[in-house]
Amino acid sequence: MSARMVLLGPPGAGKGTQAARIAERLGIPAISTGDIFRANVAGATELGTRAKAYMDKGEYVPDSITNAMVADRIAQADCEGGFLLDGYPRTTAQVGELDSMLKDSGLALDVVVEITADAEAVVARLLKRAGEQGRADDTEPVIRRRLEVYAESTAPLAGIYAERGLLVQVDGMGEIDTVTGRIMEALAARGVTA
Ligand code: ADP
Repeated sequence: MSARMVLLGPPGAGKGTQAARIAERLGIPAISTGDIFRANVAGATELGTRAKAYMDKGEYVPDSITNAMVADRIAQADCEGGFLLDGYPRTTAQVGELDSMLKDSGLALDVVVEITADAEAVVARLLKRAGEQGRADDTEPVIRRRLEVYAESTAPLAGIYAERGLLVQVDGMGEIDTVTGRIMEALAARGVTA
């Protein structure tokens, strides 16, 4: 079956890791706006140059840049059978944008998975990743800012999707495999299977 999904959760909740696993099992592409931005920064494209200033401060990239990028990506052929969005939407305005992108093609979201995680645990995970991968936005002040921006702008999205009956919450604390199992189970309970 096709599955059009959104993965929500704070920085460090394990969205990227879980997105790749879930998407593979369901046979749909995982689309990470953060990864697309980072690839553009690495390639020094115009999009990357515009996004970098915001990313380095832990702020969101303006919607005018982000929405166009996502619209373009989900219009590609590999998304016809569904997709898993990781890191989009992140604001209520982006929720509306995504709705209209899908509606234009007669489509709608099937499910939104929120990975929950304890605030101190996510800071610890991100600081550990900073040591290992050296991501430019993984310094403690920027991590704190990303968490603040998440709490202000993105956490309320769970309520919006819950009202629509689309939200499934999954505990993101524990082993990677355990969390993947929880997500697959929650999806299966909603009829989303490979
Ligand atoms: P995080 O682990 O902080 O969730 P991501 O890799 O998802 O990291 O995103 C990294 C950065 O890319 C964000 O802090 C933000 O600057 C930018 N970004 C990613 N997705 C969006 C979006 N939907 N809207 C605005 N900015 C975004």
